[in-house]
Amino acid sequence: RVVRRHRRCRKTRYRQARFNNRKRADGWLAPSLKHRVETTLTWVNRLISSCPITDISMELVRFDTQKLQNPEISGVEYQQGVLLGYELREYLLTKWQHQCAYCGGQNIPLEIEHIQPKSQGGSDRVSNLAIACHKCHQKKGSQALEQFLEKKPEILKRLLVQAKAPLKNAAAVNSTRWALFNSLKLTGLPIEIGTGGLTKYNRTVQGLPKTHWLDAACVGKSTPTRLKIKTHQPLLITCFGRGGRQKAAPNKRLPIRHNPLKPIKGWLTGDIAKHKTHGIGRITLRSRGSFVLTKPDKTQFSV
Ligand SMILES: [Zn+2]
Repeated sequence: RVVRRHRRCRKTRYRQARFNNRKRADGWLAPSLKHRVETTLTWVNRLISSCPITDISMELVRFDTQKLQNPEISGVEYQQGVLLGYELREYLLTKWQHQCAYCGGQNIPLEIEHIQPKSQGGSDRVSNLAIACHKCHQKKGSQALEQFLEKKPEILKRLLVQAKAPLKNAAAVNSTRWALFNSLKLTGLPIEIGTGGLTKYNRTVQGLPKTHWLDAACVGKSTPTRLKIKTHQPLLITCFGRGGRQKAAPNKRLPIRHNPLKPIKGWLTGDIAKHKTHGIGRITLRSRGSFVLTKPDKTQFSV
């Protein structure tokens, strides 16, 4: 034992350093993000195998933050071109959580508002823009922010913080979207990418209501000028777990239970099974060997 221990910590000059030699591969994703990419890919492959699909349109970004932030957008630039305006509007709506920055009003028409008014030298930079309802917008007019919110210091404080903060989840979305794009390329189909602003523009031009599945139909430049929507009910997909991986389930200190190795009698949690009397349902494993069958209407049977 002594010899072994010494061998393991002996310093010899040609030996490579063995500490700190674990690193994550390039393109590593957290399991929660990886699952998003993989689930999407699974369904893309399933649809390809059963439908005559020739192209993929992917919404690569909700908003083109680079377009919004890198070149400081001046007034003329973002008034030119309908798309850029859409991009900016979408970004601002999400940033201000679809509510008036001053009164918190929701589900009302919202306008883009200059925090420091243009008449007082305020710029058209994104950090100087907020979302306000018509009433607040008119009421504020060309007053400075400090003057307008003189009697509401807590709103003033929150507003100044929120104006400067960029959208948080942009980084997480950034990493998954390229991973998804690269794995979609492996399907061999031509991929077209579009932005969220373009999607909204396409949807509005068609006069379609705001839903995720109609948005999906409007992604990219390939969207036809008239979309024929033949259904009112899209295919809704929900992910369920396939059972845990924990082998020893502890209380605070000690293992109190050992979970059996999967599969049990050839079954895994999440398998779809057909029972003689109860019909089709989802299986949940039990180590005792009698499983739980959950029907689509959530009723459960021991089978
Ligand atoms: Zn308001």
